[in-house]
Amino acid sequence: MSSAAPTEISPEQLAQFARLGPQYPRSVPMPAWTAGFDGADYAAVLRSVAERPEETLSLYVHLPFCPGRCLYCGCNTTITHDSSRVDRYLDALEHEMAMVAALVDSDRDVLQLHLGGGTPNYLNDAQLTRLTEMLERRFRILSDTDQSIECDPRRTSAGQLELLHALGYRRITFGVQDLEPQVQRAIGRIQSVELIRDVYWMAREIGFETIAFDLIYGLPEQTQDSFQKTLDAVIELLPDRVTCFGYSRVPGRGPHQHAIDVHRLPSAVDRQILFHRAVQSFTDAGYAWIGLDAFALDTDELTQAQDEGRLFRNCTGYTTCPTAHSIGFGTGAVGEVAGNCVQNETSLRQWQALIEAGQLPIARGHRLNLTDRRRRDAIAHMICNLELPADLACGSLDDEYARLAGYAADGLVEVAPDRLRITPAGRYFLRTLCTEHDAYFAWDRARWHFSRTL
Ligand code: SF4
Repeated sequence: MSSAAPTEISPEQLAQFARLGPQYPRSVPMPAWTAGFDGADYAAVLRSVAERPEETLSLYVHLPFCPGRCLYCGCNTTITHDSSRVDRYLDALEHEMAMVAALVDSDRDVLQLHLGGGTPNYLNDAQLTRLTEMLERRFRILSDTDQSIECDPRRTSAGQLELLHALGYRRITFGVQDLEPQVQRAIGRIQSVELIRDVYWMAREIGFETIAFDLIYGLPEQTQDSFQKTLDAVIELLPDRVTCFGYSRVPGRGPHQHAIDVHRLPSAVDRQILFHRAVQSFTDAGYAWIGLDAFALDTDELTQAQDEGRLFRNCTGYTTCPTAHSIGFGTGAVGEVAGNCVQNETSLRQWQALIEAGQLPIARGHRLNLTDRRRRDAIAHMICNLELPADLACGSLDDEYARLAGYAADGLVEVAPDRLRITPAGRYFLRTLCTEHDAYFAWDRARWHFSRTL
């Protein structure tokens, strides 16, 4: 399944199906989450988990600080050059972790720990050490816990990478995005190929088990030829994993996105062609195409997991860790605990104020009802296993199953007696197919359309 060769897709298919769908990092899109779910509700959910000590955890820590803003950035970030703000943030994080650990009964295995941002490696050595030690004090981080960190290659050094490795981080993701100078100028992020090579080889020599690159397609000034150069340069290095995200312009996330010239963005069809290039280039180079948008070498555990039907996707992307509960810490952090989606306050000031008042800093959440859970499971199955068993849909999702089966006429799915299989052509439009199972997509459709066309 993972090694399926890329297929040709027709211009007609591109024109018909190349619309944006959600990235599916969450069970239910955020517009459906409400402020009616608050810190007291979250506390009750965490207490309920405490009754089941055998259930494992996945932890995410959001570190929002960056020294400057990239124009494409849609993350929750705070630009600062004042390191004492990071220290105060860590103080608040420590309180937040203490509150959560006391409620959830933290004497249970942590399978996955991920530091994201922002720029986690903008923290200095003392701050990175303090953060890791505070996590180890509050939670059961094991020697085989999958510890990973997002890293800005412009802000790292051999010394920092050695420290991260010594602290137990074995998987590192570098934000590469695009290596062509005209694209980098258009997105306000300059980092040379030589820098990426140096940082990559430093990480290899230090011994990180998995080195991953993030790329973005659909950026201003990107052409098929320019993107091919980026793909070729990346493949020459052979990182273990590459994720190819589609740029989604969301001006509501900050005025900086207005600095991107919409007339220089590839069209929806051109975006799809760029992604097709990525699929062809990586699979030709021996990578397996994982789920929606990731690529992994045969030696990587994601490839094996996909082949064996053991692939999962959570807020941090594809993973082999089947944890029951994902807990987020820090501003705007998202989690999913016992079938409840939760998000922390996105405002740094408000998040800190709630913690200082002794409250869990929850801004909004959503309790998944039975149908939500079935939709979640159906979408997860499609984006991980590239099929939908009929028994996952029978009953409340019959209409969606029938609509999805209708794509057989377009060659995007194959109808078997007991399941629908996504065809090689259908993989390119997997997000579009998943929206058939996404009751909340209509709510979000205006936003996605807006972000694509402006
Ligand atoms: S480094 Fe990452 S989080 Fe920071 S501004 Fe750039 S894209 Fe956003």
